[in-house]
Amino acid sequence: MPKNKFNYLACIFCGKNQYINSPNRPPFGGNQIEPLKYKIFQVRQAEGRGNLGKGHGGFQLIPEESLNIEEMIEREPELVEQIKERLLIIVKAYQKAGIITSEDLRTRKAKA
Ligand SMILES: [Zn+2]
Repeated sequence: MPKNKFNYLACIFCGKNQYINSPNRPPFGGNQIEPLKYKIFQVRQAEGRGNLGKGHGGFQLIPEESLNIEEMIEREPELVEQIKERLLIIVKAYQKAGIITSEDLRTRKAKA
């Protein structure tokens, strides 16, 4: 690979991409995320940068006001439906390509 070319992995869900620094270690920081517990609906508060020091400030997550997907079902039903539709489009496409099999969907345990 030429030194001026770099590998990125684009997210199939949202299209954002991430630099892959090693071919053996894809940038799936999200691997540790538990799908039902992770607060995907995030309420954040703008913080001043002046007195917080380097690496602080910006938009700080307020966990107690943020919601995981189960908590979103009642409060944000349209968003939940949009997420579901996108997930189904991805799963169906990967099934069509043989990457995901029906067996995968039956036997793989979802992390709760
Ligand atoms: Zn994404």
